[in-house]
Amino acid sequence: MPSAAAAPPAPPVLIVGAGPGDPDLLTLAAVRALAGAEVVIHDRLVGDGILALIAPGARRIAAGKEGFGPSTPQDAINAAIVAAARAGLRTVRLKAGDPGVFGRLDEELAALDAAGIAWRIVPGLTAAAAAAAAIGQSLTCRGRNGALTILTGHDVAGFAEHDWRSLARPGAVAAIYMGKRAARFVQGRLMMHGAAPDAPATVVENASRADQRIRAATLATLPAAAAACAGPAVILWGLAPRAAAAALPALTASPDLPAPDDTTTRREALA
Ligand code: SAH
Repeated sequence: MPSAAAAPPAPPVLIVGAGPGDPDLLTLAAVRALAGAEVVIHDRLVGDGILALIAPGARRIAAGKEGFGPSTPQDAINAAIVAAARAGLRTVRLKAGDPGVFGRLDEELAALDAAGIAWRIVPGLTAAAAAAAAIGQSLTCRGRNGALTILTGHDVAGFAEHDWRSLARPGAVAAIYMGKRAARFVQGRLMMHGAAPDAPATVVENASRADQRIRAATLATLPAAAAACAGPAVILWGLAPRAAAAALPALTASPDLPAPDDTTTRREALA
């Protein structure tokens, strides 16, 4: 009789970053993981173009949360990952963007550790990187900002507090995730600490996807710009779309030149 020790080691659970939505922005490691998976437990935010890369016979489990809709309790997600891995299946936990940015990664790793299951993280492109690329801006810039803040608009306790004083300084740049509902709160805090009402803020909705939309705003108009978004959006505080980015589609012979202040961009137009 074969001994238990002879059994092949269970493959590690792969915690894979799906990037911001465009399948072209997946890593090769992510594509390979999806092609080889037997079970994929994915965020609802992960789009069809990426889910199409999952091996045909693999089981898919939609988990997590979409916008402010119904969400799967984190314990249930943890349990599903552990159960799939314990069954000896090649298991992928597919998370939007980078797993380590507002992804509750630590809770899932803790559950795997507690169950004695090996894991590996495949990083992904976080939404802020795609949003900055969409507006032709750098997240850091010599002489402007030597630091980038990635912050959430709200946490479990409600609107999230941050170091508003430093964020309100001229030249500060922050990528605000989950900021649609918090936009007015963020505006109030920044103004309270002296930020100029005409300081730039750009809202990038559905970054990298076919329905990407860029709304150039100022601190004064930020709440309205954020409220106009139906899909996931990142607020790039301190950044305006680079003027050249608005002119670029003309250079690439695209017939529809988007207006700089309310711009629906197709990925191809800015590629
Ligand atoms: N781990 C993800 C973030 C998950 S939190 C990452 O690294 O990107 C969910 C928030 O991410 C959304 O509320 C939104 O602020 C942001 N987000 C995710 N995908 C996005 C996209 N394609 N465009 C704009 N914002 C996005």
